Amino acid sequence: MFEPKDIALLKKLKKRTLLDLALTIPTSYEDTTLSKEIKDGSTLVARATVTNSSNFAGRLHITLNLVDFNTQASAIFFRTTPYHLKLFSVGSEHIISGRVGYYRGALQISQPKSLKSFGEITPKYKTVLKQSEIRALIKKYITSETLYSAGLLPNEVDALLKLHFPKSISEVKSEGEYIESIVFALKSVEAYSHLAKMRRKRIVNKPIKALNGSALPFIESLPFTLTDDQLKAIQEVESDLASSEKAAKRIIIGDVGSGKTMVILASAMIAGKDRSILMAPTSLLANQLYEEATKYLSGFLNLALVTQKNSDGDYTKADFIIGTHALLYKDDLPKASLVMIDEQHRFGAGQRAMLDALSKQGEKSPHFLQFSATPIPRTQAMIESELIDITTIKMLPFKKLIDTHIIGKANFSALLEHIESEIKQEHQILIVYPLVEPSDEVPYTSLSEATAYWQKKFENVYVTHGKDKAKDEVLLEFRERGNILLSTTVIEVGISLPRLTTIVIVGAERFGLATLHQLRGRVGRQGLESHCFLYTNAKTPPKRLEEFSQTLDGFKIAMLDLKYRNSGDLLDGVTQSGEAFKWLDLSEDEAIIAQAKERVSKIALR
Ligand code: ADP
Ligand code: MG
Repeated sequence: MFEPKDIALLKKLKKRTLLDLALTIPTSYEDTTLSKEIKDGSTLVARATVTNSSNFAGRLHITLNLVDFNTQASAIFFRTTPYHLKLFSVGSEHIISGRVGYYRGALQISQPKSLKSFGEITPKYKTVLKQSEIRALIKKYITSETLYSAGLLPNEVDALLKLHFPKSISEVKSEGEYIESIVFALKSVEAYSHLAKMRRKRIVNKPIKALNGSALPFIESLPFTLTDDQLKAIQEVESDLASSEKAAKRIIIGDVGSGKTMVILASAMIAGKDRSILMAPTSLLANQLYEEATKYLSGFLNLALVTQKNSDGDYTKADFIIGTHALLYKDDLPKASLVMIDEQHRFGAGQRAMLDALSKQGEKSPHFLQFSATPIPRTQAMIESELIDITTIKMLPFKKLIDTHIIGKANFSALLEHIESEIKQEHQILIVYPLVEPSDEVPYTSLSEATAYWQKKFENVYVTHGKDKAKDEVLLEFRERGNILLSTTVIEVGISLPRLTTIVIVGAERFGLATLHQLRGRVGRQGLESHCFLYTNAKTPPKRLEEFSQTLDGFKIAMLDLKYRNSGDLLDGVTQSGEAFKWLDLSEDEAIIAQAKERVSKIALR
């Protein structure tokens, strides 16, 4: 559609499609239509004759007769050049343009320009191209025909044409409702354009095999009943894996404790003897998954564990292989028809590339399932689902009984009492510090400063942090014997701590809501009544902490986080699109995205 010589320009602009170009809208306009009135403070374009000119002390004073207004105006140039002297010689005629104002009752024009042409509204674009280049591109490609054939609606075509080719300045300078309708149109075009691009990017691979095993024997052997959301997830996986046309590509997202492992085990059952591989980000987690698999699946499948430190079973013969990235280094790792990744959000970008390698085998791909405990906002899910199918698990098998309180110095002795009483009931406490070592920038006690205090006051206080090499051992020991664990946020508690009922987050306002949510999810995982204390020095705690303390729903919190946009830790990991929107606001524009999605789905059918 673009001519070859223009494609180079588009590359410079970093734009690919017609809609990308159409959405490159002017940042301002130069209006050289003759003004109808003289408005104090605004730009005047008018015919003028120079009636007087004096050059004094480097300043040029001129008097202009504004022909159409039958009035005089004066202008001063502070840095006079020979060019100015010649241009504004007495008797010369101009179309001048400049901002007008009154000085001691007299009309003045500041630094007027003499225009070569007039009667035009010229859009100004802020891009890497020359104004003439970008204007030529827009003029050539952005027409009502091209915009309609790109799939836009009348209001969108209208808005874009007005922005690029306004007939009067009022078309683009109005306020209120009118501008709102233009912004609305730009949002829809942006949503539509983005979704259409993602849809085209989606790669469909053939599966190695359609998998038709049954998860029922496993489900029936469980000592508990699965939640409706777990069953729904299993059903979705079942129909994915049954396809012989399309390798599954799905992410199952559910809060910590929503029981994703059961979906993993059920998926392995469906794959059965056709073999599945499950990879976890840490050996601790791999071990825990292997334990659970052994507990619930050993009657049905042959299992094996592969980590750097320890292995179990014969992975070359197993039906279900569980491991860490150590799996990737096994030359004799058998091919699997289903590959699963647990805690997807904790794999780094580099590791994810390796996962891709694991999930590709020439023309055909294994079915690929990912599991994540990072809830994403609904709007983002709507967008991502163009690339990858998404299942959300919202129900929890145990009702979460977590009270969240925002506290400060004044509440410290009450907090101590609470901790003492919890320890008496054999419950455990986690205290999270913002830093390991003290820092001038962070007005809170650091982990290392706090340690002595807690160890003097309580027994069995354990300490660890992200860089601690012994953290796995510390955690395991804490699980058995500990009362209090002091740590930083960096440590991801990979193991479940069923007796953990209290978490204290020091300097809570310093953390993003997504992080706070992950931390709070550590307590009360087995239905014990639990408490989360957000400790802050702030005199009035930020509103987002208040709102956070009122809900336990991870998907709601993801929405809140978007709204406050403080954290930045929310979107990394899951998002594949990564593109920032100029107009679209993911925290508000759900309806617009939904409508765009609907339109995009129709286009693809043609
Ligand atoms: P996730 O991986 O989603 O964070 P897990 O799969 O580790 O959560 O499940 C948390 C705990 O809940 C585990 O001890 C698991 O055995 C248990 N569990 C899972 N599903 C159910 C259920 N439907 N009923 C009761 N307990 C469940
Ligand atoms: Mg899990």
